Amino acid sequence: MRFTSLGSGSKGNATLVQSQETLIMIDCGFGLKEAEARLKARGIRPEQLSAILVTHEHGDHLKGAPMLARRYEVPLYATPGTARSFDRPVPQFRPINVHQRFSLGDLTIQPVTVPHDAREPSQFVIHCGPCRLGVLTDLGSITPLVIDAYRHCDAVLLECNHDVQMLAEGPYPPSLKRRVGGQWGHLSNEQAAQLLSQIATERLQHLLVSHISDKNNHPEIALSALASVLEHSDCDPEITVLSQEDGSPWLQLQPNALVQSDIPDESHYPVIEVR
Ligand SMILES: [Zn+2]
Ligand SMILES: [Zn+2]
Repeated sequence: MRFTSLGSGSKGNATLVQSQETLIMIDCGFGLKEAEARLKARGIRPEQLSAILVTHEHGDHLKGAPMLARRYEVPLYATPGTARSFDRPVPQFRPINVHQRFSLGDLTIQPVTVPHDAREPSQFVIHCGPCRLGVLTDLGSITPLVIDAYRHCDAVLLECNHDVQMLAEGPYPPSLKRRVGGQWGHLSNEQAAQLLSQIATERLQHLLVSHISDKNNHPEIALSALASVLEHSDCDPEITVLSQEDGSPWLQLQPNALVQSDIPDESHYPVIEVR
């Protein structure tokens, strides 16, 4: 399995995940032309997409997704709550149940509900054989469900939205400061570090520092918060800071042969084929 971010931040988010059989795009917070250009820069034609998954209706995640789905006839998976914000009907829409895993080719998609100020937000853990990639942005607080879902990931895109002091002293109006820093807003560097301390195991190969605010954070501050956790952990992941302008290069994810025995048995979970 390989993956790449096409960009991450408040001006647009999109991630590609590709396995032997399947290529999915998670979120498309860029307009159609911009999305096409960013796909092309990764060597991908939109017709190649097996599916688009949308986490929630905020513009930095949804913007170009319905247009891309309609133009290239790509199935678009989202919760019914998210779908209420489509500007017009999307024939390719496939509703997902946030409590139910589903399969897309050789990928299994695990939806994860998160506390965020959207109608029915869902983040995702992508399973491919023994490999797991967790995509986790746009949440205001850490829940037991989130810790449980992301604990055994081989790679995590983790939101490090803001530095608490920079947000307090920054340019946002008071109402927006309360929203961003609130329980239903975005993760601060400190919260991200706290979550990392609870989910980082020796399986973790890649840590992607995601959704960094350009007004209320600096990559160096986020990195130093995360480094203090990693110093005292069992893992030594490759760290990539995702940029708004260009995301990340393609990154490869291989099963970690040393720690496969740690994978919990999940055979008791039913998987519904939805496509
Ligand atoms: Zn966002
Ligand atoms: Zn959001």
